[in-house]
Amino acid sequence: MTKNRKSRKRAQKIDTPRVSFPEEKRLPWLTMLLDAYHIADRGIALEISKRLKAGERLACKKGCSSCCSTHVTIPVYPLEVVGIYWYVIEKLVGPERDRIKAQLKAFKAGSGCPFLLDGTCGIHVVRPLACRHFNVFNRPCSPGEDPYYTRRDDVLTPNERFKERALAAMLPFHGIRESSKKKRLARARALDALVKNLQEIDWANLGRRMDGEIMRKTRV
Ligand code: SF4
Ligand code: SF4
Repeated sequence: MTKNRKSRKRAQKIDTPRVSFPEEKRLPWLTMLLDAYHIADRGIALEISKRLKAGERLACKKGCSSCCSTHVTIPVYPLEVVGIYWYVIEKLVGPERDRIKAQLKAFKAGSGCPFLLDGTCGIHVVRPLACRHFNVFNRPCSPGEDPYYTRRDDVLTPNERFKERALAAMLPFHGIRESSKKKRLARARALDALVKNLQEIDWANLGRRMDGEIMRKTRV
């Protein structure tokens, strides 16, 4: 069996469930986003399984989060920002909602991700692709360490085929629907021109929008 066929077979076996929300009926962009995340998650699971099989140990686990407090360049695509706005405004409830709202209102660039709560991601189901893709092997990051620069080999390299398919799934949000065009633009990383840095977004605006407002239209 060729390497590609083996890899395809393994990818078919790895099934990560796709998250779904009833709101997808009224929010077509949400389906695009969740499809993109599902595709990306499958690619990530595939690459992780290869490295585990090779004897490495995944260092990332729930509660380990220095990356979320110290990384200052986390790219976020426009559809992902819309997804975060929607999730935070419409889905967060209870004390978690109040705490995230307070963190958003107090957010200052460089002060760590405002969605981090007690060492876990407060928006886990809609966390950006960049967060999903960042997986570290063998030992957890030291405080302040970005292993992409200190030990690149310990950082997961995303599966390009799945990453491209995930980006293609987001393109209809930008009016690109034709299959061959989506493939071409995803391969060319056309969406990278629209990327924002999570640390430079005006999150205080989202905090204010949480004050009793339900997002009827997706305006960010
Ligand atoms: S990237 Fe580093 S700090 Fe973040 S969860 Fe993984 S090991 Fe922990
Ligand atoms: S969005 Fe979640 S996973 Fe990403 S940096 Fe923030 S807290 Fe961490």
